[in-house]
Amino acid sequence: MGKPEIIVTGPMMKTVFQQLDGSYVLHRLWEADEDALIAEHGEKIVAIATAGKRPVDATFMQRLPNLKLVANFGVGYDSVDAKWAGENGILVSNTPDVLTDEVADTAVGLILMTLRQLGEAERYLRAGRWEKEGPFPLTKATMRDRRIGIVGLGRIGKAVAKRLDAFRTPISYFGRTEQKDVPYRYYSKLADMARDVDVLVNVAPGGLATRHMIDAKVLDELGPDGVLINIGRGTTVDEQALIAALREGRILSAGLDVYEDEPRVPRELIEMEHVTLLPHVASASMFTRNKMAQLVVDNIRSYFDTGRPVTPVPETPVR
Ligand code: NDP
Repeated sequence: MGKPEIIVTGPMMKTVFQQLDGSYVLHRLWEADEDALIAEHGEKIVAIATAGKRPVDATFMQRLPNLKLVANFGVGYDSVDAKWAGENGILVSNTPDVLTDEVADTAVGLILMTLRQLGEAERYLRAGRWEKEGPFPLTKATMRDRRIGIVGLGRIGKAVAKRLDAFRTPISYFGRTEQKDVPYRYYSKLADMARDVDVLVNVAPGGLATRHMIDAKVLDELGPDGVLINIGRGTTVDEQALIAALREGRILSAGLDVYEDEPRVPRELIEMEHVTLLPHVASASMFTRNKMAQLVVDNIRSYFDTGRPVTPVPETPVR
């Protein structure tokens, strides 16, 4: 029997190719004509390795009749139709845990940068304004007296909360289910939590279920001193409503790592100096990205060795 054949949808860490190239036939989709590749090799493809750029939707998967595994690089797999895959006997794996600490560190950094306008202060120095104009203006916001509400108290949300405990800020959370084993206040309604906190930190997954969950109403409840931090997915926030709320001073500021239409960031946001904007870098250290890449390799190998990936997603029909 020939080597198993895998489609890789976009560029990935070198180690993925170094480790898989000998044992599998890898088809680099981004370098190929998709229709021609599928026409020639579609029937032989058993797995897809994906980093999210090219959505792995039902239409794509239907064209690969022997597809058995979609190995996603990243814990968020909203670009894979995992429900359809699960219903059609295709396993999906992601890369949880190995990135939790990195993303939580970045979330705390983003909170501090946003509250204390540290990015803007750095640009002020680099532009020579400190010397010419004197000290950077005092910031309106501070971590002192801030109540923080976490949207999605999962692996990353909990790691963020643990770090924030050190700041002695009261923490609450919103999710679909109350967690009895955490010391934080639970809200079953997002708008109610937004009303009671000063900083809303989104770490919930993307996808249809959370689309525009943070809308104009939630932002209005957050109020004129409120700050939104988004390290989850851009689609969870109604970006136009956010721009309007920032522009009209209905919230104070925002710190964003993710956007609705990446890598396109609305000009209105870029022009707001006090808002902190990061280019989706929460897990983007060599250390953590190598761990994620290794888990993609391990998931693929494990599937071919045992019939089960190491970290299947909940929609997948294996336990
Ligand atoms: P988990 O699955 O551990 O946590 C997700 C949390 O979100 C759970 O607490 C869950 O609680 C809550 N949640 C899920 N669906 C909903 C919903 N419809 N409404 C409200 N809450 C919901 O995932 P991780 O913590 O490991 O990762 C979270 C997300 O962070 C990823 O899906 C990804 O999108 C994002 N991420 C972003 C990165 C970046 O680079 N910016 C890097 C890594 C991850 P409950 O089930 O009770 O609702």
